Amino acid sequence: MMRQVVTELQSFGLRFEGKLLQRRGGAGPAEGGTFLIEGMPVNLPIGSEYVARSPYFLREEGGQFLIFKEERVVCPVHFIDRPKFYDYTTKGRIPYHKIALLHGKDCLATSVIQSCAYWHSKERCRFCGIELSYRNGQTIKKKTPDQLSEVARKAKEMDSIQHVVLTTGTVEPPGKEISSLVPCAVAIKEATDLPIHAQFCPPSNMEGLYELKEAGVDTVGIHIESFDFETLSQVAPAKSAMGLGRFEKAWKMAVDIFGPNQVSSFLIVGLGEKEDSIIWGSKFLADLGVYPFVIPLRPIPGSLMENVLPPGPEEMKRIYEAVACILREKGLSSSRSLAGCVRCGACSALSLFEEATDTLNCHPVRTKADRERAFEIRKEVFVLEQKIFSDSDVDENDTRSIHLLAEWNHEIVGTVRVFPVDNNGHWVGGRLAVKNGFRNTGAGELLVREAMIYVKSRGCTKFTAHIQVENVSFFSRLGWKTIEPVKEYFGKPHQLMEANLED
Ligand code: SF4
Repeated sequence: MMRQVVTELQSFGLRFEGKLLQRRGGAGPAEGGTFLIEGMPVNLPIGSEYVARSPYFLREEGGQFLIFKEERVVCPVHFIDRPKFYDYTTKGRIPYHKIALLHGKDCLATSVIQSCAYWHSKERCRFCGIELSYRNGQTIKKKTPDQLSEVARKAKEMDSIQHVVLTTGTVEPPGKEISSLVPCAVAIKEATDLPIHAQFCPPSNMEGLYELKEAGVDTVGIHIESFDFETLSQVAPAKSAMGLGRFEKAWKMAVDIFGPNQVSSFLIVGLGEKEDSIIWGSKFLADLGVYPFVIPLRPIPGSLMENVLPPGPEEMKRIYEAVACILREKGLSSSRSLAGCVRCGACSALSLFEEATDTLNCHPVRTKADRERAFEIRKEVFVLEQKIFSDSDVDENDTRSIHLLAEWNHEIVGTVRVFPVDNNGHWVGGRLAVKNGFRNTGAGELLVREAMIYVKSRGCTKFTAHIQVENVSFFSRLGWKTIEPVKEYFGKPHQLMEANLED
């Protein structure tokens, strides 16, 4: 339910009993308030005109704040307290909150350079508001390493900050902003030892990426925003002009230096792009080891897109589901990110979709329907896919077998059978089948391991199986050894192997 609610809230926004909310503590992107729902930070639109039409509103009842949807209570919600470090000022009398802000629930975020080389040109990104907060006096134009280390130290001490985001406007030539990020990262790391995330344009000279690593940066964001280049050329012409090749080179190099899952790119939904560009772009990124941080457009008042509406929740849900699937297939996860927006997650519901899809378990057949499903999967694999059997692979051994099932997100995706062949502890395994599309989930490995545990618990001392030769290395990795020469078995070469039940 949580993922549905957060997705809808991020599209429609949250109002306060008919009124728009005032920003109160917390932070996040401009025009947003951060709340805790079930302990998770969620950044929501609160002040834009469209929020007045949201079905969601906040009401105080019995001493607690509750989110309602059309008079039905949805869930309790908590405000994030105003951070204590906001009350301090530097020696130069600059309030700390003008230097860095709390984002999400435990992230300190700052724009090191609060200006952009393209702000006064046609090249300016239409969704961006980087100079607005400087112009209205909420921040200062450039932060120094000394200021940032002072604020970060206090924020860690007073507010238990856990990670830091350093972002910046673009300078000319794009990517040169890295030279401003490096000394800031060095100073923050020295003062706090916190994980640091840095965001910048893809540099032409990749040496800067090594400098960031050396400076103590743990993760980086190189944001293409959209893979629909027609749209990108309209809304972010400077980024579009850099070209995919330059981004790709930077992402590859960054993954090499910072590691898979520690590099990310924002993909904004609602810029006018084709929906499938988000999906293929996410695949493209995930193949490289880059986390596609998909977020709904948050139209910033004062930006060139202030009158555009965020994408609807149905579209976001479709995209989140597809991207969560890609993340699963490619082994990426927000929970493995050390620092930055992917770790914070307040601006996107993607991590909720990841969690909801990321469970794998194994158990013996419990019901008739379970058993039928196991036989269906075997038919898909051995009859339709591999064509080893013409109609059915079911045989007399099935009646005396124990059938194990693997479930991925509560869907049965694989099976294996085991049965005793004598009374001396010899068991045989076979018909290991995992549905196409789920073979990167670890289901096959789990089935084999669980089968070994299962037969051992039934007194098995010898566990063998005829393995198709192309799967021998997979079984060897799980500790099985080959016995006897390869033989034809149902018209395919098979290797007899024995499990190591010692462990
Ligand atoms: S996801 Fe990023 S932009 Fe959003 S609140 Fe968290 S750190 Fe800030």
